[in-house]
This record gives sequence, structure tokens and C-alpha cells, in this order.
Amino acid sequence: MPEHYDSIVIGAGIAGCCTAYALQKKGQKVLLVDRSAVAASGGSGAAGAFVSPKIGKGSPLQTLTNEAFHFSKDFYLEHFPDYFHQTGLIRIPKDEEDAQKFEIYEPFNESKYRWVEKDALEKTGIYNSEDSFMFEEAGVCDAPEMCEAILEKVEFQQMNVGSLEWDGEFWNIALRQAQGPSVRQAQEPVAEVLVTELVEVVKAKNIVLSTGYQNKLFDMRYMGVKGTWGSRGDYISALDLKFSMHKSLSVSANVNGIVKIGATHVKGEEPCMRCDGEPLKELFTKASALVDTSDFVLKETFCGMRAGSKDYFPLAGRVIDVPFMLSEYPALTRGAKPELKHIDNLYICNGMGGRGFVFAPLMAEWLAESIVNQTEIDKRVNPDRLFLKWCRKL
Ligand SMILES: Cc1cc2nc3c(=O)[nH]c(=O)nc-3n(C[C@H](O)[C@H](O)[C@H](O)COP(=O)(O)OP(=O)(O)OC[C@H]3O[C@@H](n4cnc5c(N)ncnc54)[C@H](O)[C@@H]3O)c2cc1C
Repeated sequence: MPEHYDSIVIGAGIAGCCTAYALQKKGQKVLLVDRSAVAASGGSGAAGAFVSPKIGKGSPLQTLTNEAFHFSKDFYLEHFPDYFHQTGLIRIPKDEEDAQKFEIYEPFNESKYRWVEKDALEKTGIYNSEDSFMFEEAGVCDAPEMCEAILEKVEFQQMNVGSLEWDGEFWNIALRQAQGPSVRQAQEPVAEVLVTELVEVVKAKNIVLSTGYQNKLFDMRYMGVKGTWGSRGDYISALDLKFSMHKSLSVSANVNGIVKIGATHVKGEEPCMRCDGEPLKELFTKASALVDTSDFVLKETFCGMRAGSKDYFPLAGRVIDVPFMLSEYPALTRGAKPELKHIDNLYICNGMGGRGFVFAPLMAEWLAESIVNQTEIDKRVNPDRLFLKWCRKL
């Protein structure tokens, strides 16, 4: 007899780990699967995993990000404090022009902050800066360790999900043994996952797709999920760097003798084409203008793709039955607005962009609440928002 679950979550990055955790907390029997043997083998393992507020002129995305920031820092501090370091984060203007905007941004700072003057920064060893905002409550996660700690609380199997079939009552999932990288691999391209024979079929009432930038299981083009590539280097250093900082790149505080430098910047379809540490050189040069990197020794490099949605808001909610909608309502392309039909019991938690560690705990909570208690998902993150506009562009 196949095993029956309430929900199977596909993808053990920060989004999938948080979703599985939230569903289980609400009483569900949950299975989390990933094609890799460990959590955070995708973008989540590469992340600098800074958890900080967003600054700006009060845009809806800023408001949502800051709501998520408060939720996530409390979530990590309460449940996984060993892997969240509340170092504080200094948000440094990119240049003089940007510095002038900070005064405009100030009234929209929804989190606790204080100004730190350029001179004071210089005294703490942070150079070439302008007057900046310090967010004391911000911090940085140990990305893979955080995902692993969350994963420890839920049932997990290493499996590559190749196909899913709804039988009217349950999703039947053909789990195939994956032979991919079983550990996170630094400095090497992510190996193609080789699929071997079918080993098991499992059943679940609900499926949650948290597969990051790879979304080939269903037609979800309307969500516009795209990958942006980035890299991170972990450097051994004795530099007394008490705070994390973000300018055009992120540099962490020194936590246990390690300083992390990272950024995501290259749009691309393919993962990790240049994992030889080469792209880090540019980041390192920029970091060297900020802090004294003279004793930095590169310990490890990471690279990965982060998945962003078309409008940069996260995606948490049900998945529309695109083939049905397009064949049933051809007038969609001319602006018709029929009632949307969703695929039964299929959900997504994805599109976290450059802030997966900020968004995932709150998105997971909202999604789990909507699955378990049938509450309406917040419109700002419901993927439905993108469908009609996408149809008109077909
Ligand atoms: C260099 C870098 C720096 C970053 N810095 C930060 C930061 O400072 N702060 C922050 O909050 N965010 C940061 N991010 C962004 C953050 O990493 C992402 O938002 C986050 O990783 C998204 O997590 P995810 O779970 O959606 O996707 P992923 O972590 O990519 O996880 C997707 C998982 O799905 C699995 N999968 C896919 N298809 C299948 C399948 N068919 N069967 C089984 N498994 C499957 C993959 O193996 C993978 O493990 C950074 C990203 C990068 C790359």
C-alpha cells in the first residue's frame, strides 16, 4: 500500500523547509522531498542569508518585505536561534546621490533604526561610506544549517519528482531515485541529476511546489519565475567586524572567524555556469573598498540561482489550470475575465527573489493556514494576480 500524506512538499530550500514545518505544526502528516540528499542544495545553500528590512519610499513591496522581516527574525529567534545571528545590519548608500535619497527613505523605515555617521563608521573600520541606517534587529542566518535544522523536524526523502497525477482524491507521485550531488558542492557546476528507476509511489492530498527556479512540472508561465545567478565566498579572517552591512553587495559580521561576502546579479536560465570562484573576484574588490580584507583567506565558494516572480512579489497560493483556461476561454487573450479554475490541491511557495530567508517563514505560514484552514491567501502574494495580464500578452 502506498504511504498516504496530507501534504508533500517538493524542494528542500528555505521555502520548502518552512512550508513543510508550518504544515506539520498545524497537525498535518507531511513529507518533504528533494532531489538532493541534503537541504539547501539550490539557491538556499548559496545565500548569504541576510535577514534585514527593505528601505525605500514605502512601496507595497517594501511594506510586505518589512512585515516578513519582523515575522522571520522572530521565527528564527524563537525556534532556531543557533543559526540566526542578530548582528545588526548597516545599510550604506551606494554613492553620494543615493545618500541624498536616504533622507527621503527615512520616514518609511518601519523597523527600529538609527543613523550612523560616515565618521563613526570609519572608526569601526568601514570605509568609503556615507551616513547610513543601522538596523539593530537584522542579522544573518547560517543558510544550509538553518534549512537542515528545520528539515530535521519533518520527514524527508531524497527523491527527484518526475511526474504527478491527480486521481480525483489524491496526488500520486512517482518518486524516482535521484543520483545527484548528495552534498552541497563548492566550486563545481551543479551536476545533472541522473534519474534511475521508479522506486516508490506515494499519495498525498496536497502538493506544494517549492522547486525554486526550476518549474517544469506544470504550466506556470504566468508566474514568470526566472533565475538570477549569484555567488558567495566565505573567508577566514580575524577582522573584528561586529556588524553586517549592505552596500551594492553584502558583507557579514565576523561570526566564528568567518566573514561572508555575496551578491546575486546575473539573470540566466542555466545554473552555476561559472563556479570556479572567478566571479567572486569582483565582489572581493568591492568588499576590500569597504573593510580591511588584508587577512581574508577564501575558505569556500558557493553559487546558486534565486527564483524571482514577474512582479518581484513572492508566490504563495494555488496554481491555475492554464491548459484548461486557455482552451475553454480563448477570449482571455482579448481581455476576458472568466472565473479562474485552479488545479485541485496544488499549491506553490516560490518566487522569493533575493530575500528567501526574509520571506519564507511568513509565506509558509500564510500558505499552510490557507491549506489547513481554507483561509484566503493574501492577495499580494496570490499568484492569481499575474494570470489575466499574462493572457493578454499571449
Ligand atoms: C548568492 C546568493 C545570495 C543570496 N543572499 C540572500 C540573502 O542575503 N538573504 C536572503 O533572504 N536571500 C538571499 N538569497 C536568495 C535566496 O537564496 C532565495 O530566495 C532562496 O534560496 C529561495 O529558496 P527556495 O526554497 O525558493 O529555492 P531553492 O533554495 O533553490 O530550493 C529549490 C529546491 O527544489 C529542489 N527541486 C527542484 N525541482 C525538483 C524536483 N523535480 N524534485 C525534487 N526536488 C526538486 C532543488 O533541488 C532545490 O533544493 C541569495 C541567493 C544567492 C544565490
